[in-house]
Amino acid sequence: MNEAELAVLVRAASFAAMRHRDQRRKDEAASPYINHPLALADVLVNEGGIADIETIVAALLHDTIEDTETTAAEIENAFGAVVRMIVEEVTDDMSLTRAVRKQLQVERAPRLSTQARAVKLADKICNLRDVIDGPPAGWPIERCREYFDWAKEVIDGLRGEHERLEALFDHVYHRRP
Ligand code: ZN
Repeated sequence: MNEAELAVLVRAASFAAMRHRDQRRKDEAASPYINHPLALADVLVNEGGIADIETIVAALLHDTIEDTETTAAEIENAFGAVVRMIVEEVTDDMSLTRAVRKQLQVERAPRLSTQARAVKLADKICNLRDVIDGPPAGWPIERCREYFDWAKEVIDGLRGEHERLEALFDHVYHRRP
């Protein structure tokens, strides 16, 4: 990684931290939200062997449009059109119901770009690990199981491009509660 790439990476982490600063995860400890995008970047680089800078930057930013006031245009201005496209590919439309959003993730998985597939894999790996480590407050075991099965349905639609990440996903899926 060169100096310019390192600069953009740190800028993206800082941008995400600012945008998510008032948010918490749904676990019982209500962890700071930024732990989640950082965990994705960690999985991609240190477990998945991903070295593509745009993928890692997009992972850091992947929930900013969905969960904060951040716009796609802002992402493009600050991080370029490729990063914007990856983030948009993995962004749910929060004006739709949860059921429709979940169905759309399944339907869209086969059409995701290679870079968006990596981010989606890391997102599902981290979310399943979080459910195992400490399910969101109030989730009965049935809901945890449904969540695992839905995540697998999404991932089954995008296999074939990221062998290591897919193996990491399968590994965590096998710990289904
Ligand atoms: Zn996420």
